[in-house]
Parts: sequence; C-alpha cells; structure tokens
Amino acid sequence: MSKLSNEALQASDKAHFLHPFSDFKEMGHNGTRLVSQAEDIYIHSSEGKLLDGMSGLWCCNLGYSQQAIVDAVAKQLQELPYYNSFFQCSHPPAIQLAEELAKIAPDHINNVFYTNSGSEGNDTVIRLVRRYWDLKGQPDKRVIISRKNAYHGSTVAAASLGGMGFMHEQFNVLPDIVHVDQPYWFGEGGDLTPDELGLKAAKSLEDKILELGVENVACFIAEPIQGAGGVIIPPVTYWPEVKRILNKYDILFVSDEVIFGFGRTGKWFGCDYYDTKPDLINFAKAVTNGYQPLGGVMIADKVADVLKADGGEFGHGFTYSGHPAACAAALATLKIIHEQNIVENVDKVSGPYFSKRLQQLADHPIVGEVRSVGMVGAIELVKDKASRTRFSDNSDAGAACRDASIANGLVMRATGDTMIIAPPLIMTLEQIDELFDKAKLALDDTQKVMTEKFG
Ligand code: PMP
Repeated sequence: MSKLSNEALQASDKAHFLHPFSDFKEMGHNGTRLVSQAEDIYIHSSEGKLLDGMSGLWCCNLGYSQQAIVDAVAKQLQELPYYNSFFQCSHPPAIQLAEELAKIAPDHINNVFYTNSGSEGNDTVIRLVRRYWDLKGQPDKRVIISRKNAYHGSTVAAASLGGMGFMHEQFNVLPDIVHVDQPYWFGEGGDLTPDELGLKAAKSLEDKILELGVENVACFIAEPIQGAGGVIIPPVTYWPEVKRILNKYDILFVSDEVIFGFGRTGKWFGCDYYDTKPDLINFAKAVTNGYQPLGGVMIADKVADVLKADGGEFGHGFTYSGHPAACAAALATLKIIHEQNIVENVDKVSGPYFSKRLQQLADHPIVGEVRSVGMVGAIELVKDKASRTRFSDNSDAGAACRDASIANGLVMRATGDTMIIAPPLIMTLEQIDELFDKAKLALDDTQKVMTEKFG
C-alpha cells in the first residue's frame, strides 16, 4: 500500500475525501484518525495502538486476524469473481449461504433475499412488506411503524424508517412511516419504574395501531436493542407486551438484526434472545465479519409462501445481491462461529464476565447506570446519580470520555452522554480485563475534565 506519511495522507484526506456522518468543516480542522493496520482485537492508528471496543462499526465480531475468511474470498475471486443472481441465474456460494442462514435462523424462517448493506436491506423490507399485503389483497396496509431514535440505515428509505430527528431534518422523509416511543428508561423513564416504562412504550405502539386503524398498518420494525441510539436495552416487560400486541392485531414484525445478529447477545439473533418470532430479519455487518459488504433479509415461510405463489416478478434487486466473494466470506465466517462455539461462549463465558466487569464501573462517581446483554454494553455519564442529571445539554461528558478513552488506548463510542462498548466476541477474559481497566482510566480522566468544567 501507499508509503505516504501520515501528514501527507491526512492532507490528501482533507482535500478529497468527504466522510460519512462527519462534519466536513470540523474534519478539516481536526484531521482524521488514520488506521493503517489491525490484528486480533487491536487497530494501529495515528493515535497509537487501540483496543477496538466497537468491532469496527459493530461488524468485526471475530476481530482482524481471520485468515480463513481472507483465503475463502481469494479462492472465490479466482474461481468465479462475479456473477449475478438476476433472471433465474445462481451460483454455489449464494446457494450454500442461503442454506446455512436457514439453518441458524428461527425454524419458521427459511428464505433469504441478498443486499449489500443494512440500509439496502431495509429498503428491501419496505418492498417485501408492501408486496406481501398487495398480494394478500390488502393494499391499504401500507403504514410502517418504527420507533423514535431508531437507526435503520442511511438511504432515503432506511433513514425514513429510522427515528433520528437530526437525519430527518436533512431530507424529505418518506410518507406512511410513523414513529412510536422507545423503551429508554434511563433517559426518559422519569418517576416510572423500568417495568412501567416498558409497558408504557409498548402501549404507544398499540395506541398508534388503533389511531391508524389496523387495516392500514403493514408492519412494526425494531432493533432487539437499539444499537446506535445508545444500546437501549428494553425493560423485561417490553418485548412480551409488544409481541402480544402484534399477535392481537396480526401486524408483521421486522427484527432489524444488523447489529445483534450472529452472536452479539449470546444467541444467534436478538430475536432468539427475546423470543420475538419475527416475520422478517434484516441482517448485515458481522455476517462476513466486516471483511466484505453483504446484507440481506430473511423471510418467514408465512410471507415467503405468499411471495412465491403466483406473485409474478418482484421488481427489485441489486447488481451485487449475493456477490460470490461476499457469500464466500460469510460462509467462512459462519464456519468459524460454529467451530469455535462463539455464540455459546458469549452466552456462558465471555458475556457473563463482560457483565461482571462492567457492573464494577457502576459505583464510579460519574456513572449513572451500566447495562449489558452478551457482549454489548452501555455506560451512562451523569453529574448526579440519584436524579440522573447530566453535566450539560451538549454531550460534553460523552465527547470527553471518548477522547479520554482513546488517550488510554481504547475505542469506545459516545452517543450523547452514553458510552457504548461492543467489542469483538473472540475476546479472552484477560482482554476483557484490559478493556475495562482502560475504560476505568477513561472515566477517571473524564471526571477530572468535567469537574473542572462544570464543578
Ligand atoms: N440497521 C441497523 C440496526 C444498523 O445498526 C445499521 C448500521 N449501523 C443499519 C441498519 C444500516 O446498515 P449499513 O450501514 O450497512 O447500511
């Protein structure tokens, strides 16, 4: 690769490269974190060697040294570097992967439609759901219910499904998509108990269904746990009540598993963890360990049977749907997950240890709450624990903690004043210790910065 110095690369980056989800002006001033190499669970960057507490962007769940995936992609590129799956064409890796996915998905799900990303998957979800109701002779069932502060991707359709206000301000949101409450007790629970808040958030779904009229509602889409929104783990009352409501009114359910699929919760999918029985599962990211772009929508038999019976042509697809190299990467990834018992290990060993170490941070003076499931966790930063009061309205604590974390050799992400951790699932217990030792130092440093600034 390039032998340019970091300075030359950063200058070129500033001159030519507009980065996703970045303030272009700010980037020009502050430069970028250049990452040039990675191995195991570490990245080598212009800010030193960092333990990657975010698995890239929630995707490199098996870390950065999986030679078997690299070999599988190289072999596939030599054998069949490309062919499409339009117009009755197919190829072995896409077929084999479809079969493997059907094996790990819940029993009632046996079909897949490939995309290249989670966002394209959610565009596909909209197309599939609308097509299903059209074919069922209920074309009025068009409205999709999502949740405030959800993240479902960044194409126009996916960002419309998402519930992030700052994104909606920048384009015209698609019609027939509405948003109901999120089950975020720490941020929005007020005087309610977590259980009460869970039921209240579920009730906002039922109220919306009744307001719209059941005959107009196509589906409800939700992440098992809101990831990018702040690792919002619902109170235990939430999913059983949502499931009851969806069953009662016969509304399709889409589980967006782009982050939680493939073992993050200690089950294959987040819907297994919460037993939500979805009709569609949107997946991407960790299916290839992030080594190739691949996503897709897995479809329950109930929906697939309707789509397959006399539906005519489904006018949707992408040039690279089920790209052979991406499918080869996914097959190699799934093989490692099976052979190394990654999912069971998260459930029984690393997840419980991760939780134990995270809980130890709960007593820290600036921590209001810690929460985790499997190998994903969140730390809420506050000025006052009892009243859950933040230091400021501008996410200063989150920004300070993110910087302090990097200074201590750890990548943690800040969503507002919520710190997020979703490290590779392959971590040893010693590496989990290393992560939380660094996180503790980051919290100590953040406390100093914030006390100086806000008293
Ligand atoms: N859905 C969820 C739940 C996600 O977290 C993301 C990405 N973080 C997406 C969809 C979009 O995926 P992509 O960036 O691959 O388009």
